[in-house]
Amino acid sequence: MLAELEGGARAVAFSSGMAAISAIMTLFRSGDHILCSDDLYGGTYRLFEVLLRPYGLTFDYVDMGDPKAVARKVGKKTKALFVETPTNPLMKIADLAAVAAVAKQKGILSIVDNTFMSPLLQRPLGLGIDIVVHSATKFLGGHNDVILGAVVTADAAVGDKMAFAQKAVGAVPSPFDCWLLLRGIKTLSVRVERAQENAQKVAEFLAGHTAVARVYYPRLPDHPRREMHFAQAKGAGSVVSFDLSDAKAVPKFLSSLKTVLLAESLGGVESLVTHPATMTHADIPVEEQVAVGLFPSLVRMSVGIEAADDLIADLGQALRRAVR
Ligand SMILES: *Cc1c(COP(=O)(O)O)cnc(C)c1O
Repeated sequence: MLAELEGGARAVAFSSGMAAISAIMTLFRSGDHILCSDDLYGGTYRLFEVLLRPYGLTFDYVDMGDPKAVARKVGKKTKALFVETPTNPLMKIADLAAVAAVAKQKGILSIVDNTFMSPLLQRPLGLGIDIVVHSATKFLGGHNDVILGAVVTADAAVGDKMAFAQKAVGAVPSPFDCWLLLRGIKTLSVRVERAQENAQKVAEFLAGHTAVARVYYPRLPDHPRREMHFAQAKGAGSVVSFDLSDAKAVPKFLSSLKTVLLAESLGGVESLVTHPATMTHADIPVEEQVAVGLFPSLVRMSVGIEAADDLIADLGQALRRAVR
C-alpha cells in the first residue's frame, strides 16, 4: 500500500521511523559523506552525529532550498542528499526537483523524509527523488497509538537492500502494528484535510496575536518559500511553529494549555505542542540551534482534528496567562 501511495517500486515497513532511517544508512560505508537539510528532525541528527559519525560517516548541513549551495557542498565523498521539507520545526522548504537534479547530475542518491506531508500532500518520487522515508508513527498512523516506519524506493533493487537490512538487524514491525497502520491509512485524507483546515485557522490566530513574534507556516503570505512549497505540495500540512515575543513566557504558556497537550510527536488526531529547544531538539548543541534560527522562544504545535474554536480558545487563554 505504501509503495502505491508514494508511487514507488517497493516499500519496506520497519519497527520505527528511526529504524527505517538506520536501514537507509546501511547503504553507505566508512568515509562516505551525506549532505543533509540544515534543520533536521532531532532524532535523525542524533543518529547521524552520535551513533554513525564514530563509524566514519560524515554529515554536513545545508539549506536545501538553495540548489547552488547544495551543488557547492557536494564533494568527491558525498554519496547522498538527505532532505526534509518542510523542516521540523522551522518549516524551511527544499526544492525537491532541484535536489533530485543535483543528485542525478552528481550520480548520488536523493533521500526525502516525507513524514510531515504524507503522500497525500507531497510525492517526492514523482519529482525524481530516489528514496522516501516515513515515520508512520505520525500522519500515516494518525492516532498516536503505533510506532512504525517505512522506506519506499523508486528502484526495486534498493528496496531489496532495505528488506535485507530489515531482516538482518531485526527492525521488523509487529503484525498488530501493521494492522493499526493499515487502519490508520484508511482515514488519512479526512484527517489530514481537517487538521490542515484547523492549522490554517490556528496560524492566522497566532499571527494576529500580540504575544506572538513570528509564525512559521507555509501557507501564510509572509512565508519566504511559499511558492516553492506549493509548486511541489498540495497543502501546507498541519504543523505550525511560532516564537513567543518573550521566551520567558514559554513555560507558563505550555503549562496553561488544557485542550492542547504538551507532548512530543505529531501527526495524530489530537493537538500536541512541544518546546523543541528542550525536548525534540535537545540533542542539538545550543549554538547550532541558534545558528539555524531555533530559539528558546519557539513552540511547535501539531494541530489535530478537534473543533478549531476550542483550539483557538485554549491557545488564547494560555497566552493571556503567560504574558500577564
Ligand atoms: C518522528 C520522526 C522521525 C522518527 O520516527 P519514529 O517513528 O519516532 O522513530 C523521523 N523523521 C521525522 C520528520 C519525524 O517527525
